[in-house]
Amino acid sequence: MVGNDDEVVNLTKKLVNTRSEIPKQGEGTKDIEKAMAEIVTNYLNDSGIRAEMLKVEEGRFNVIAEIGHGDKLMMNGHMDTVPMTDISQWKYGYECREANGKLYGLGTSDMKGGIAAMLAAASSINLKNAKRGLLLAFVADEEGDFKGSNWLFANKPDLFKDVRYGIIGEATDMRIQTGQKGLVDITLTFNGTSAHASTPEAGDNAISKAARFISYVENINKNTKGSSFLPSGTTINVGTILGGRSHNTVPDKCTLGIDMRTVHGFNTNMAIMSIKRLLREAQFRKSDTDLTINHSKNPFKLDENAEVVKLLKKATGNQKSIYGSGYTEAELYYSKSGIKCAVFGPGSKKAIHRPNEYVNISNLKKAENIYKKVMLDWCFNIK
Ligand SMILES: [Zn+2]
Repeated sequence: MVGNDDEVVNLTKKLVNTRSEIPKQGEGTKDIEKAMAEIVTNYLNDSGIRAEMLKVEEGRFNVIAEIGHGDKLMMNGHMDTVPMTDISQWKYGYECREANGKLYGLGTSDMKGGIAAMLAAASSINLKNAKRGLLLAFVADEEGDFKGSNWLFANKPDLFKDVRYGIIGEATDMRIQTGQKGLVDITLTFNGTSAHASTPEAGDNAISKAARFISYVENINKNTKGSSFLPSGTTINVGTILGGRSHNTVPDKCTLGIDMRTVHGFNTNMAIMSIKRLLREAQFRKSDTDLTINHSKNPFKLDENAEVVKLLKKATGNQKSIYGSGYTEAELYYSKSGIKCAVFGPGSKKAIHRPNEYVNISNLKKAENIYKKVMLDWCFNIK
């Protein structure tokens, strides 16, 4: 099988046809990555690479393979996918189908195509007499709570002690992504005083307060050059609003769900400070609001001179790197184990987390070749 031109295509199809959706909210866990993990493990073992399935929890697995000795480069991908959206909107349903030079199906871009390209590349290179090694890490639950990677940090810390750099095969349209935004998830409640609707002056309308805050945010988001509050590229999205008891009562509470995306150099604390400053500027008193941070991730930026970036640039013909807006585990690997990861993969960003997800077949083959070049370069050419 190795060396066959369509290897990476067939492998992608096989992985996509092996469903591994994380459960929708409220559904219990079941076997999610198990069948995927078995295929990945068997594929590597059949290629002469000793791979191991590691149980994260019932029905959920990581697959790990260590190749060679010395400093290592990690090739990383997640085996789970988001849940299927309304199936009637998918041209080919669950089946992975080839059409117009693309493979369609859930997980083609995010990120079974990336995993297939990594597997095909790793299985086709000869690392005998390599000076440095590789770690292949295919993990569970990236689309959920990052349980797969966190399990490794907690239970297999030795696995990472020689790992210097990593490549995560998430969808980047074949671009080298060296940075990504952080996120701060906030609940902001506006407090007021209720009164009868016929005497609004006796109350203090919490919904009106929230509305005033929202219009402030709108103005800030419109200013693409940034503001004194937020550097350019940082965004605030008011995603949910909940308030009021009845049409005839002045509302005493209004709660906003806010998602803030932050750029490099602007961490979670700074984001919170800027929200507080913004509230003061808009003349809210301290007692007017309650702010809760639900969860947050810092932005991440890799040094352009990092060896993994140089290797990817060399293999792609000196392509310029990009800064991503979505979250990937690059930040997690850096904050938990100091591993500097670039993100590079065949998937298309605009195709993911939506019906009729696809990956370009030409990108699968190109990605396989680029991964191959980078792995060989890392293993044999030490500067
Ligand atoms: Zn992904």
